[in-house]
Amino acid sequence: MGTTTAPIKMRYEEDADMREVLFSADVLAAKVAELGKQISEDFAGKPVVLLGVATGAFLFLADLARAISLPVQIDFVKAASYGVGTTSSGAVAITKDTVLDLVGQNVIVVEDIIDTGHTLNKLVKHLSHKAPATVSVCALLNKEARRVVSIEYPPGGKEYIGFPSPDEFVVGYGLDFAERYRSLPYIGILKPEIFS
Ligand code: 5GP
Repeated sequence: MGTTTAPIKMRYEEDADMREVLFSADVLAAKVAELGKQISEDFAGKPVVLLGVATGAFLFLADLARAISLPVQIDFVKAASYGVGTTSSGAVAITKDTVLDLVGQNVIVVEDIIDTGHTLNKLVKHLSHKAPATVSVCALLNKEARRVVSIEYPPGGKEYIGFPSPDEFVVGYGLDFAERYRSLPYIGILKPEIFS
């Protein structure tokens, strides 16, 4: 599980809503560097296309892109499965597709967290129809305990995972609760009273 750090230094107003910090900014930065190095080694000599899943992956994508030593193309896709609450409906709609030509490309879908797996399964399937060389996933967090569907990768697809996540609703570093907390540089768990 995550490295729980020292008490939060009150820097952002939203820090006050946090029950605990799961992954500090430093811990996240070290993991992103590691993921970037692994991807750079695995795809050495080839460009990659990073497709961030908006909006939650925006900070992770920005940091990951700078940790990869290969030429990268960047775009965002958007899929809706969560409303303002915290439960997944299971039905996923792709509400923004990529404008990039993926034919023959090594595509890496960059996601904040895998929960039930519905979102990534739908996206990987959808992107596979665009004739890419490979479709991989790089997810910062993985809530293994909540998996409902496994992601079906086409041949050659790899899965990069940053950290296992506890079965808690987490926020920060791109992840929101009702569109708040995205800009926090760490990942934390909200105080229970914030949900009620
Ligand atoms: P899945 O389709 O795998 O069930 O859900 C993936 C999406 O659900 C993530 O991209 C994220 O937007 C949202 N999600 C799942 N768990 C959490 C969580 O703990 N915190 C936040 N903020 N979003 C979550």
